[in-house]
Amino acid sequence: MSMSALSRRRFIQLSGALPVSVALARPAFAAASGAALPNPGLMDVPANLVLINGNEYPSGPTPAALKALNAVAANGNRYYMAETTKFTGELAAYHGLKPGYATIYAGSSEPLRFTTMAFTGPAKSLVTADPTFESAWRAADAMGAKVHKVPLKADFSYDVKAMVAADPNAGLIYICNPNNPTGAIVKRSDIEWVLENKPKGAVVLVDEAYIHFSDAESVIDLVAKDKDLVVIRTFSKIYSMGGLRFGYALARPDLMEKLLHYGVNSMATTAIQCAKTMLFDKDLVLLRKKANADARDMTFEFLSKQGYAFSPSQANHFLVDMKRDGRLAAASFANKSVIIGRSWASMPTWSRVSVGSMKEMESFQTAFVDVMKDPAGKVNAMAHPYPHLEDAFRC
Ligand code: PLP
Repeated sequence: MSMSALSRRRFIQLSGALPVSVALARPAFAAASGAALPNPGLMDVPANLVLINGNEYPSGPTPAALKALNAVAANGNRYYMAETTKFTGELAAYHGLKPGYATIYAGSSEPLRFTTMAFTGPAKSLVTADPTFESAWRAADAMGAKVHKVPLKADFSYDVKAMVAADPNAGLIYICNPNNPTGAIVKRSDIEWVLENKPKGAVVLVDEAYIHFSDAESVIDLVAKDKDLVVIRTFSKIYSMGGLRFGYALARPDLMEKLLHYGVNSMATTAIQCAKTMLFDKDLVLLRKKANADARDMTFEFLSKQGYAFSPSQANHFLVDMKRDGRLAAASFANKSVIIGRSWASMPTWSRVSVGSMKEMESFQTAFVDVMKDPAGKVNAMAHPYPHLEDAFRC
């Protein structure tokens, strides 16, 4: 179905419930009439689309967390700064750290960029694996820093020796554990080796966005030991708060000071209450980790039977070799109502697929069989039916 046909149908459905004047005033309806969508990743798609492109958790916050969120929403007129300070202290203590070692943000994108900006520059490069989450590449580029992209080893592990050797003037070494997009973990002994052997003056940034899904060992205890280390975490993944926004950075105070140079914003009181409730929920991580692993293992069994290679993921996403250009694969899946993730330039035929619910992964499998039946020429001719979703998710 073309986007315009889709938009028209959705417009008619939605506008039926509202006076036309109200409907026309709303952004979604402006989009239907041809204007840019204000929120292209989320609006104007059919309800039955399977969204396994953004590494999101398939369901929302827990009922208890939503209750806590709702309890403060009516007081949204107040800044409630003290709540931010209080929760920052609680969060630090939760990780065995003193309060000055934590800063909370609306997600981990800001501390990721700010850490990169603080420790790279024209004379201080960034070293990362490739493929990995690219946000640091862009921030380093903006700082005029050189970016060294060190290929993963054949088994998808980090080549830490090559990363440390990449540049004696490295300012920051970024380690994503588990790695996005492969979902493969980085061994703690490898991170320890990097910390011991890195160029003097370089800082190591460990991004633990997906660690809760995996058996990877956190290095937060090394922050307590005052290493040259920044650890970032987010509630956008297993805690399903991508749209609600909550994340944090942990580092010794003199390093944190350099991040703070780039500013902190007021936190949403709703997000704080929601995050706090889930952080102290003893069952959430275990239950969700298992649900994710079950859906992922079922998909891996299927892919193995079909004879397709995939990355050894412990996270809520993996790479699969589609044996065709990733953009074409994404368009083919989208034509079957399954939205998969993107590819990386260094592995152009491998697409990232997020792990959804069991039901969503069954839909992925059905679509996969169909897509792989398509001769390459037919796939080539197919346009992506939701072009606004193609690059919207930079997750
Ligand atoms: N780090 C990694 C590895 C990610 O994949 C993402 C987003 O997908 C982020 C950080 C930033 O996410 P957020 O700002 O929602 O916390």
